[in-house]
Amino acid sequence: MTGVLVLVETSTTGVRTSTFELLTAARRLGEPAAVLVGEATDEVVGALGRYGASTVYAVSAAGTDEFLSVPRAEALVEVARRVSPLAVLVGSGPDGKDVAARVAVRLDAGIVTDAVGVALEDGGVVATQSIVGGRFVARSAVLRGPAVVTVRPNAFGAEEAPVTPAVETVDLSLSEQARGARIVESTPKASSGRPELGEASVIVAGGRGVGSEDGFSVIEDLADALGAAVGASRSVTDSGWAPHDLQIGQTGKTVAPELYIAAGISGAIQHRAGMQSSRTIVAVNKDPDAPIFGIADLGVVGDLHTVLPALTALVRERRS
Ligand code: FAD
Repeated sequence: MTGVLVLVETSTTGVRTSTFELLTAARRLGEPAAVLVGEATDEVVGALGRYGASTVYAVSAAGTDEFLSVPRAEALVEVARRVSPLAVLVGSGPDGKDVAARVAVRLDAGIVTDAVGVALEDGGVVATQSIVGGRFVARSAVLRGPAVVTVRPNAFGAEEAPVTPAVETVDLSLSEQARGARIVESTPKASSGRPELGEASVIVAGGRGVGSEDGFSVIEDLADALGAAVGASRSVTDSGWAPHDLQIGQTGKTVAPELYIAAGISGAIQHRAGMQSSRTIVAVNKDPDAPIFGIADLGVVGDLHTVLPALTALVRERRS
């Protein structure tokens, strides 16, 4: 049992970065193999090979696109039964956790969700979680295998380790249960043209200090100048100044970009829980005692409506 299965997530532009992160994490445990529900195009197989997938299991079954998460769970279970892996890694979004829970039940296996680290210890899988708003680190050994682990986005930097994958086709017949809920309509979200929050290397996030919906535009302007994603505190999303899917924190998204600029955000523990693993944190706040300065690498005490436009102008000037 040295193989590690990774469930591939794709978007309209190809394989998601989160899958490359999972393959990078999988290499810490054993030999990664990718489970792809859908067509194994040369482009997709090449991308998976670049991040170390020695085998790509291309699972096809009539109707996998029509139904919710169960077909992907059944695909993983089918491959896991064939290859007896050491672990199964899945992305930690709501969908991924749904799939992972079903896989664990069907394989009678131990599961750890929202892992920020995985390691091989005494031949078994140990997963690390950051819990209670980031105040505790929990390490859990999975005692019933294969270890099913969902891994948070950005917990691992995607690192290339090129190989040429073998492609194995797996034919699957979906169970009646998999056909239990059919997708009747799917409308792509209008693109903001900005990077996805979960995959961005730079994020500019605004808090209540922006003052109003119009005031939030200084956050968007700086993000656009930097080519960054836009994030927000819950105060902002609850006020309707920015959409809920931009909320970062305990009840929002968890991010860990290279650079996180927090403007007008006090740094409540529930917000920090979603961003404190960022590599470099820059805080702009007019209150020198704001808790966010306690975790900032660089703090600017000032009015964000003065500081951010000046920074935006400087970035634009340097980039022109
Ligand atoms: P505030 O705390 O009001 O801070 C505003 C800051 O802006 C202040 O520090 C102020 O000094 C500064 N400021 C004001 N004007 C300016 C200016 N002109 N220039 C510069 N600085 C200025 N919060 C989240 O963010 N994400 C979550 O996921 C989340 N989940 C939660 C879950 C639960 C169960 C609970 C109870 C709360 C949760 N919260 C969450 C809310 C959290 O507790 C805070 O209320 C929230 O994060 C505060 O948002 P804020 O920092 O934008 O606002």
